[in-house]
Amino acid sequence: MFERRRTRQIHVGKVAVGGDAPVSVQSMTTTKTADVEGTLQQIYALAAAGCDIVRCTCNEIEAAEGLAQIVPRSPIPVIADIHHQYKMALAALEAGVHGLRLNPGNIRKPEHIKAVAAAAKDRNVPIRIGVNGGSLDSALYEKHGGLTADAMVESAMQELAYFDEVGFDLVKISVKASNVPIMVEAYRKLSAATDHPLHIGLTEAGPLPGGLVKATAGIATLLLEGIGDTIRYSLTADPVEEAKAGRQLLESLGLRERKNVDLIACPSCGRAEIDVIDVANRAQSAFADKEIPLQIAVMGCVVNGPGEAREADLGIAAGNKRGHLFVKGRNVAVVPEDEMVEALVEWAAFINEHGTEAAIARADTARAEREANKDRSALLEEKGADANHSTEKIVEIRRTAGN
Ligand code: SF4
Repeated sequence: MFERRRTRQIHVGKVAVGGDAPVSVQSMTTTKTADVEGTLQQIYALAAAGCDIVRCTCNEIEAAEGLAQIVPRSPIPVIADIHHQYKMALAALEAGVHGLRLNPGNIRKPEHIKAVAAAAKDRNVPIRIGVNGGSLDSALYEKHGGLTADAMVESAMQELAYFDEVGFDLVKISVKASNVPIMVEAYRKLSAATDHPLHIGLTEAGPLPGGLVKATAGIATLLLEGIGDTIRYSLTADPVEEAKAGRQLLESLGLRERKNVDLIACPSCGRAEIDVIDVANRAQSAFADKEIPLQIAVMGCVVNGPGEAREADLGIAAGNKRGHLFVKGRNVAVVPEDEMVEALVEWAAFINEHGTEAAIARADTARAEREANKDRSALLEEKGADANHSTEKIVEIRRTAGN
């Protein structure tokens, strides 16, 4: 579909980043890192939601001590997030972290940067150069007349030069801003300037749903250009939402294999025979904890539903108080309206185990198609081809406007 830009490959613990490795999902814990059990609980929840690599703040000695206990028990690699105090980076390395994130905007002394890079080199631990628009080095801010893509790229390249001086190159880079066009431009420029793997994200994206939209606008734009080796949604929300969003974005772009249900649903209209929003939400909850990599459709009416969702592995459409189940566009069963979600779950589990062919084979398709046609014809007769009454409305508009 689109070509990914080839970068060097590094490893964050067991997870490869860059080269031909799949794009990975990252998130960050919101607990105090010194709270070992609380942090591990959040890490397990993140891993279950599709997070590949987790970051924990290392802002005090107690946090570094917490990391020493968290790292061996974590199901996914742990990165220490470092700001201001280079000694916290050295302490995190001592704790055994799989990676560091350094902010070049607030650890600026070359000797400190080089001391961390040298220690990371000794331990074969990668570092992310994490430039952040909000904490950009003030000298660069002034030089470039404010926050620009060039200023962020220059900050990253300066840090890279310090790393080069000690022969350290296990590096990935991010240039995050909270403004989508600046962020996209910065990554495009960075991608042209270096072949180190890139960590993509929009910083301080904010709460849902706006944060999700903005972050997706930036991250998806870059991924579709082949730029990006690992991603993070920085949402003002439970970090599990970040992991889910990252995972879903990669699956929807075909960059990761589908792990969970891809639920599609019609937007509803005057033809809907059910409350589509309610049924879709109930289906979403029912499939939330199931690892079933199928596309499943919830459609408001049997008149258009099965046709419009014919590519889905499984779907259900409402008509005359009944739910018409279809597999790959073929009607397979009819169930009472209040059993629609349960029926979807049962058929999804069957298809997941035996495949769509077996599901069609076990069904009385002739009967199901007959029943669907009966409901389709009845609804067409009852509501006509113009269920939204558009023609009548247009006549009325013309009559009113004409007066
Ligand atoms: S025509 Fe039927 S399937 Fe299409 S949006 Fe309306 S209710 Fe949903």
